[in-house]
Amino acid sequence: MASQRQKDSSAGYQPVFKSFATDAIHVGSEPEQWNSMAVVPPISLSTTFKQHGPGKHAGFEYSRCGNPTRNCLERAVAALDGAQYCLALSSGMAASLTITHLLKSGDGILCMNGVYGGTHEYFSKIAAEFGLDVSFADLTKIKAALKPNTKMLWIETPSNPTLNVVDIKGCADIVHKHNKDIIVVVDNTFMSAYFQRPLALGADICMCSASKYMNGHSDVLMGLISLNRDDIYERLKFLQSALGAVPSPFDCYMCHRGLKTLHVRMKQHFKNAMAAAQFLEADPRVDRVIFPGLPSHPQHELMKRQCTGCPGMISFYIKGKLEHASTFLSSLKLITFGDSLGGVESLAEHPASMSHVSVPENEKKELGISDTLIRLSVGLEDEENIIADLDQALRAAEDPIEK
Ligand SMILES: *Cc1c(COP(=O)(O)O)cnc(C)c1O
Repeated sequence: MASQRQKDSSAGYQPVFKSFATDAIHVGSEPEQWNSMAVVPPISLSTTFKQHGPGKHAGFEYSRCGNPTRNCLERAVAALDGAQYCLALSSGMAASLTITHLLKSGDGILCMNGVYGGTHEYFSKIAAEFGLDVSFADLTKIKAALKPNTKMLWIETPSNPTLNVVDIKGCADIVHKHNKDIIVVVDNTFMSAYFQRPLALGADICMCSASKYMNGHSDVLMGLISLNRDDIYERLKFLQSALGAVPSPFDCYMCHRGLKTLHVRMKQHFKNAMAAAQFLEADPRVDRVIFPGLPSHPQHELMKRQCTGCPGMISFYIKGKLEHASTFLSSLKLITFGDSLGGVESLAEHPASMSHVSVPENEKKELGISDTLIRLSVGLEDEENIIADLDQALRAAEDPIEK
């Protein structure tokens, strides 16, 4: 009988290879963990596992609490994030929810301004109703925003959709000096493990929506949590199985497969985005381009210090009004008009009416989410095709379709 040799060993993993590409391809995919010596980890669909006797089993009991395919993915991600532990959840929001359950009623969450619309909605409309004291702040004034009950700081950098870069180490140092028990969380969705290592910069938890770059092919919803602190890991591991927002073994397999090309994809996303950003910045039909890789970005120096590159995310203000933005978006031919980001295909969206529609008008205004703001996720198509599509859609928008 081909019993599985693999044990529930996601905890306490130390990277073997000290190299990103090698780790991405090999950690979690060791053939020796299976009797069959399979080079690609099998998808373990079983919800339950035969036990030897009461309290005696081979590392797995019930799939919500631990699954061999999920383990392989979690070990790979831990290595890439420079973490000891990783937990996979069924979506980025499921990861945020699970992390927030570390807190108790009355505890304070300090969340930076300009986070992902879903995160803003969850904190302000759900967590606040459950008795958490939620506040949003500009983290350049972080000291003034800390309260005696603050237990968690939530950072997303670069921010969404205006791509502000936040100084992770600076914020973590201030907050931990104020109270070392405050849990600093960084949403690393945009940068991915390849360009930014929040744990090395002082964060306690690195989370991401792997539905974006980590999986990278727009075909899996997944959330990932990486960390080094034993005490928080124990509680999160409990919450992962007790709350039950776990990903399917098939999605774990898919995401693990996507990770193996993360380094190759991210380098090309950066290259293509740089070309598109330079094209847009030089174009008279565009008011302003926000891309942290351009020297014109206000935190370009910080970005270079903190990250090793930029993903394919560009935001820009088209000249004119809402109808110019909508004509641009509906005229795109290669670039798909739709939500989400981080896949191999280029996407464009309109934050004011899509990803950030739930953010109150006054906050939108403060954050610069106007009707003319367009967000691009530059994919891996040929750079000249992407630029040609931007060019023809800008041309179409010169003569906007009135609504
Ligand atoms: C998409 C996204 C999320 C939410 O992740 P899902 O996988 O869609 O649940 C959280 N943060 C950021 C920055 C995102 O882009």
